[in-house]
Amino acid sequence: MAKKQFKAESKKLLDLMINSIYTHKEIFMRELISNASDALDKLYYQSLQSGDTGIKRSDFVIDIAADKDARTLTISDNGIGMSEEELESNLGTIARSGSMAFKEEHAGDAAEGDSAEAQARRATDIIGQFGVGFYSAFMVADRVTVTSRLYGSDQAFCWESAGADGYTVTPAEKTGNGTDIVLHLKEDTEGENYSRFMEEYTIRELIRKYSDYIRYPIKMMVEKQ
Ligand code: ADP
Ligand code: MG
Repeated sequence: MAKKQFKAESKKLLDLMINSIYTHKEIFMRELISNASDALDKLYYQSLQSGDTGIKRSDFVIDIAADKDARTLTISDNGIGMSEEELESNLGTIARSGSMAFKEEHAGDAAEGDSAEAQARRATDIIGQFGVGFYSAFMVADRVTVTSRLYGSDQAFCWESAGADGYTVTPAEKTGNGTDIVLHLKEDTEGENYSRFMEEYTIRELIRKYSDYIRYPIKMMVEKQ
């Protein structure tokens, strides 16, 4: 399966995330939960507009599941989902307002020849100022898979990337509409403990700290060992 390339700006942002020394890597949780919440909002408003009575807001849920054997953290929603084209355009390019601001603000920066430290420093600034959305997943994961099924479609697709060298989109199996985001967590290092993101205590803490305002139930499944 040939890899597709990220757009230049996306690749730059992604590189900054992957090499980030940002201390609050945990904000990935806020970004992914807020995307899940947006996806539920979108499905709800679409159902209102189209008069689709099959949608019940009380069925909406955000699921967080940790699998310590597989070393994964999965964030799922049963929201609007994404088509094959949407997976490409939404996750392969930057179209976000915050990212556009980032582009303008840093248009003059020479990122190419910069030292790793200079790049990491700038990443910290950018994350602090704008938030980085989906790509923040790459601060804690060395591989991310997004399996999504658009509401009303019976075919799911899987977007997968192990970083800036590109991504693939392939047909996939998924029951029901919505999106499963699987983070394959990085190995722990002396400086960073990624395993903690599979601990019930940490997950609970992060939800409380960053996602208290989310209006949908957030359920958690952590396998005991
Ligand atoms: P933003 O949320 O600011 O638009 P993100 O980088 O967080 O930017 O996400 C990029 C886009 O990817 C979103 O605008 C949305 O279209 C799509 N997306 C991300 N997560 C989901 C999800 N769980 N369900 C549906 N679409 C999603
Ligand atoms: Mg977002």
